[in-house]
Amino acid sequence: MPLTMNIQSFLRPEVTELDPYTPIQPFEVLSERLGVPASEIIKLDANENPYGPVPAVAEALAEYPYYHIYPDPQQGELRSALSDYVDVPAANILPTHGADEMLDYLCRLFLEPGDAIVNCPPTFGMYSFDASLAGATVIDVWRHPDYSVDVPAMERLFREGPPVKLSSAPRPRIKLLFLTSPNNPSGNWLADDDLHRLLALPALVVLDEAYVEFADYPSRAPWVLDRDNLVVLRTFSKAAGIAGLRLGYGVCPPWLMEQLWKFKQPYNVNVAATVAGLASLRHVDQIRATVDKLKEERALLFAGLRQIPYLEPQPSQANFILCRVLGRDAAALKLALERRGVLVRYYRKPGLDNCIRISVGRPVETERVLALLMELA
Ligand code: PMP
Repeated sequence: MPLTMNIQSFLRPEVTELDPYTPIQPFEVLSERLGVPASEIIKLDANENPYGPVPAVAEALAEYPYYHIYPDPQQGELRSALSDYVDVPAANILPTHGADEMLDYLCRLFLEPGDAIVNCPPTFGMYSFDASLAGATVIDVWRHPDYSVDVPAMERLFREGPPVKLSSAPRPRIKLLFLTSPNNPSGNWLADDDLHRLLALPALVVLDEAYVEFADYPSRAPWVLDRDNLVVLRTFSKAAGIAGLRLGYGVCPPWLMEQLWKFKQPYNVNVAATVAGLASLRHVDQIRATVDKLKEERALLFAGLRQIPYLEPQPSQANFILCRVLGRDAAALKLALERRGVLVRYYRKPGLDNCIRISVGRPVETERVLALLMELA
């Protein structure tokens, strides 16, 4: 009908031109399709924490009496507890509905058509997704083969400007530079020297530290206090094991906090996530113990993967290990594992050609995945 057609044309082209999202299959659907009971599926495809939250989270959620009351829009208690945890004043911390929400805020706060972000693929997909949704151009500065950031190429880009397209469109204005440390899916750390050089560029640097608790190096969140062009993103999804409750936070300079307070949804963090976050922060010692356990398991998984003749595992500072698959098809390998109830992530795209990524699980899960990989040799 013509009226509907007209109204459809009101949609923003940045949205209509996007590829549809491919949803992850729910556990029950997968279990039925594979004929494997849900309890026997080994899920090593999304870097979740197999140990889940500290026990105090379930207790706090069960006891909380005020679910009928809206959350505190300023998240005072949570920000104060986070301030102790990250060693940054509460005034610099903004809790969000997962780190993903903060990425979306930053893109919508800064970007419009004609603007650009710099992305360092292979990396987490949400930076380019959110930037495209905001109508911005994504400029890729590819990582080196060892997945380190190509800092000279980045400096050249800022010195010489982004490539000019043949069309007469003006050069996009670069505003945001997205970095990830440890990087997903390669697991490598961004060295201090490189970060210093990148912070000297005229852009807002968004440093995504979703996996920092698993690294042998400290978070750069306190660096935000010394420079006004750095934002650090953190999350409760990985180390704290509450991915399903959605809780993340940004550590931001004061000028940005001022704008975010105006910009954010008043109730962006729900009460359950707040209660769970506070309970987690009361038991940081237990979270650290789980992280240590997973780091030990990462070493065992890495050593085991090195024994698999057709895999080349990459050293990792996160709770997953990326492997190049040599001489055989990574997609077929992923399917063979899936048929046996083990889920891993596989990639076939530039910079990640024929790779799989395996999250670090419990010891029984490591044994099972290694035994299967050996059996499939
Ligand atoms: N950053 C990176 C690098 C990630 O891998 C993920 C989750 N896979 C996120 C951010 C999103 O974290 P959250 O669950 O807090 O939205």
